[in-house]
Formats: sequence, C-alpha cells, structure tokens
Amino acid sequence: MRLGAPMTFDLDRVLIEDECRSSDLVERVLAALPAGVPTEFVADGREAARPAPDAADAFAAGKRRLVLRRRRGAFLMGCPAASNKFACCGYLVLVLASNCPMDCSYCFLQEYVADNPGLQIFTNYAEAFTELDRVARDAQALPLRIGTGELADSLAFDRMTRISADLVDYFAGRPNLTLELKTKTAEIDNLLTRDPKGRTLVSWSLSPERVFRTSEHRTAPPEARLGAARKVLEAGYKVAFHLDPIIAYDGAERDYARLIEQLGDFIPPARLSFISLGGLRMTPSLRKRARERFLADPMLVGEDVLSPDGRYRTFTPLRLRLYHRLREQISRIAPALPIYLCMETPDIHRRLMAESPLPPAHLGATLARA
Ligand code: SF4
Repeated sequence: MRLGAPMTFDLDRVLIEDECRSSDLVERVLAALPAGVPTEFVADGREAARPAPDAADAFAAGKRRLVLRRRRGAFLMGCPAASNKFACCGYLVLVLASNCPMDCSYCFLQEYVADNPGLQIFTNYAEAFTELDRVARDAQALPLRIGTGELADSLAFDRMTRISADLVDYFAGRPNLTLELKTKTAEIDNLLTRDPKGRTLVSWSLSPERVFRTSEHRTAPPEARLGAARKVLEAGYKVAFHLDPIIAYDGAERDYARLIEQLGDFIPPARLSFISLGGLRMTPSLRKRARERFLADPMLVGEDVLSPDGRYRTFTPLRLRLYHRLREQISRIAPALPIYLCMETPDIHRRLMAESPLPPAHLGATLARA
C-alpha cells in the first residue's frame, strides 16, 4: 500500500437483512460499494454470518462477506479481556461491528468469532446512544473510556459507513465519556471533518515493520499509521498507541526501540495520551488455528509456555525483559506518559512498574482523562 493511499478491502458479496432495507447505513454502504460486488437480501443476517460450509478457510471467507444486520442484544459491554486475574484498565466496549477485513496471524478473532465469521455491521447502531446516555448518567462525574475496536477495527469500513462521524459528534457533547477508536488503518478522512471537542481519542496498534510484513496482512504500514496519527492530533483528537501484541523474536529489542524512536519523530511525545503494552498470548486452540492458517509465520513459533491463565505466553523472563526495555525507551521520550499493561497479572505489573496496579475504575478514569 502506498503511504496515505486509501485502503480497499475486497468483498465477495454483501448480504442485507430484509428489515434493514431502508436504513441509512445500508444506503450509505450501497452508495459507496465498488462496482460489481453482488448484493442480496436475506431474512436473518445472523444466519448469513455463519461459516461457509464449503470454504477451505471459513474464517478467511467470512472476512470477504459483508453482512448488514440489526443487532438484537446490548451494544455496550465490559471488555472481553477483563478478568479478576489481570490488572484491568476498566475499559468498556461498544459493539457496532464484528470481525475485520484485515488478517493478522495472531488475532484472537480467529477463535472468538469462529462460529460467525461474517463481517457484520449493525444497522441500528444509533440505538447504542440510548445505552450510552444511561451509562453517562449512572457514572455521574466518573470519566469512562469506551471503545469500538475490540471485536472489529474501528475504522476499517468507515469510508463506506461514516459511523465515526456520528460517534465523534455524540461524544463531543458528553463531558464524562471518552470515545476510543482503535485501528490498524489510516482511514481518517471522516474524522478530519469533525470537531471532537477533546472527547475522542484515536489509538493505533503498532508493531515493528518486520511484524507488519510477516503477520499483519492487509493492514496499513506502521509509518502510514503514524502519519495518520499526526494528522488527527493536529485536527484536535487525542492520540494513543497499543504495543500489542509484543512479540519476542530475534532482534525484537532493537526493532521495538527503533519503533519508539520513530513514534517520537512523528508525534510530539508530550501530546501522547498513553501507551499500552501487551505480550503475545494465545489460548491453545487459537495457537493451533493461527499456526494452521499461517504455516510460515515466524512470529507464531516463539519460545512460549502455557501460563496459569490457560494461554501460551512468551517465557516470562524474556517477556519481562522486553517490557523493561520498552518502558525505559518510552520513559526516555515521554517521562510522564501513562503506560499500562493489558492482560497481565498484578504480579507481572509489580515486577515491571515496582508498584501494584491501580483498581480498574481508577485506571479507567485516568486513561479517560489522559
Ligand atoms: S487489525 Fe485487529 S481485528 Fe483486524 S485482524 Fe488484525 S488484530 Fe484482528
């Protein structure tokens, strides 16, 4: 991909739930759909999102089948990674879509949405605003951070859906809520048309060039992500980064150090909101699935061990060493920047930060204000 060029994701077809025919979102998507992509109306979009029985790789096939349907359940939920075993950041997740057109070899969605891999976008997403109103009222003055980038990339299809504009406008008027849009794209054009009034943070998951090349298929190159981050920062958005998953390959220390330097070259470090760190972790079934789908991926065959939480992780001394190096490097360019760990135990947190993790609500409020 040329730096800054719009990303296009190939779609085999678009399936639209009958009852959504007249929704605004369907109109927008159909107007922006590349010529030649067949569309079809279906009675129940949930069925259309199931794995294709005849596909050699049903998960990959799901990533090329866009399903526009009504969401039946709640939009807002706790982060799926939250657990009392981990130091938790108090993140809330807004589910406006499911699955992602990019294909990172380590992605947990390979397991998490294996039973319904169709790319789903929920046409009734505006109903989420009622849930958010309630949460904002109940939380009173407590700042909350709410993201759309857990079960989908927040911006992958934004050129077609323009959902980000509605979200940014909604959050602009909610002083105790912060929206986090998390992405591996450079799809920021719609964001640049809005004034977030300090209430939207855009975050990028960032990996060294080598990981991008071997493992982050169809994502924007790291430099394009950094360039997009600089543009949204200049347009009034907050900006943060997730170094996640951190992978311990030969040369990783040098590559991650270079990545932090590069980050500091693109974004004035004092203007960053936070950086999160998270080591590669995989349940046994995700690891098996990922290794089957990406046979030659060198990032999936590191020195990992099964940890007490049932996930394979990089051997702890090696993982901690990388965390320490990264923390030192980040502190060098941004001494006061909040850094937090994702899906690590309080013990690992203490060994890295020399202090106990903050309670989730406290850390959540700190990150929402950052
Ligand atoms: S960009 Fe994120 S959601 Fe999409 S495949 Fe990669 S890790 Fe998964």
